[in-house]
Amino acid sequence: MIQLSRFPIRTLKDAPKISDNKSTSYLLQAWYIRQEMAWVYNYLPLWLKVLKNIEQIVREEMNSIWAQELLLSSLWNKESWEKTGRWDTVDVLFKLEGSGNKEYALNPTHEEVVTPLMWEFIQSYKDLDSMAVYQFQTKFRNEARAKSWILRGREFIMKDLYSFHKNLEDLDIYFEEVRKAYVRVFDRLWIWQDTLYAFASGWAFSKYSYEFQTKLEIGEDNIYVCSDCWQAHNDEIVWEKFECVNCKSPKYEIIKTSEVGNIFKLWTKFSTAFGLNYLDEKNAKNEVVMWCYGIGISRLMWVIAEYMMDEKWLVWPESIAPASHYIIVIWEENLAKAIELAKDLEKSGKEVIIDDRFKTNFGQKAADADILWIPNRIIISPKTLELGWCELKWRLEQEGKIIKM
Ligand code: ATP
Ligand code: MG
Repeated sequence: MIQLSRFPIRTLKDAPKISDNKSTSYLLQAWYIRQEMAWVYNYLPLWLKVLKNIEQIVREEMNSIWAQELLLSSLWNKESWEKTGRWDTVDVLFKLEGSGNKEYALNPTHEEVVTPLMWEFIQSYKDLDSMAVYQFQTKFRNEARAKSWILRGREFIMKDLYSFHKNLEDLDIYFEEVRKAYVRVFDRLWIWQDTLYAFASGWAFSKYSYEFQTKLEIGEDNIYVCSDCWQAHNDEIVWEKFECVNCKSPKYEIIKTSEVGNIFKLWTKFSTAFGLNYLDEKNAKNEVVMWCYGIGISRLMWVIAEYMMDEKWLVWPESIAPASHYIIVIWEENLAKAIELAKDLEKSGKEVIIDDRFKTNFGQKAADADILWIPNRIIISPKTLELGWCELKWRLEQEGKIIKM
């Protein structure tokens, strides 16, 4: 339970106007975020709650497919990045110098860390029955593109999952499990109905990779959707002329989106670099096959904010709102009642904010409930107590009602 009298929050009367990005204005107004410098943001307490709620949904779905959570380091040695040939080829790699003139990378992704780490564990085919690990990690990328600055950070949070397999058949089975888990994640976050599953370039790794792209006006990707079978394609793989990879149709429409997740086949690129092998049933040495699967957690937060907002406010899916209930207490003598109610709500898994700032007037409290956009608003006053208990209003409905609890 949060009691606002002891909580740092300073909302703004108006939403500051910045670029074309309305949700960011709302987030600044509501004291969810503050920008530290271009591409870098501070996450204030309520925004952190949203982040943790999203992470928890992703965590539950990753655990449901037997992936194990770990936390890999951000700082990594140059030698590993040289081993894979990426020290000089990854253009967004942040490089820094430590004591004794030693150079390090601030990891933009973690294949160079996770592959040698699994080397110690994976020895035989018996160690490879669905072996997958994942983390929530801050990634660092020296991004040059200036567009969509709010969606593209130089420091951002990603969920990255790596899976290790004996062969392509095993890999394909697990791929399908992850794909379905991703669908469940985006469904629980209320964006699946407008999220496309697109074919994209596999870059150095394979012919295609697969992306989850959410429809968004301010998104920086152009997705070509086949007019006949609705297969989506990232424009990277549409060269001179569009031809659907699924049904070969030449007809398409272009939709603006933002990429919230993707899946890359790494094959044996990293196993080869780090000698990640296993012994099969006949004691022959084979290379481990790897895939990686990302979800851009911090970008996803902004995509949800931008996708859900209306003309006036942010709107949160109840599954990730920083709290489910916002209780306004008008008189100090009713605070005990409010706390009692909050405790009851918490027993059924709800999260509650009590606005007990008694030096703040009602108008300001009601405005803050609106600006933060907490799904349910409750008012407790001598009048509501006299009528029943409190007034409850669900934000997606116009009228509140007096309820007995
Ligand atoms: P993009 O095509 O947007 O540059 P990417 O293909 O480089 O992203 P990955 O390296 O696979 O993406 O990262 C996984 C996810 O992390 C992406 O799907 C995206 O949601 C998110 N992401 C990537 N780069 C950034 C960034 N600079 N800031 C915020 N989120 C990012
Ligand atoms: Mg991409």
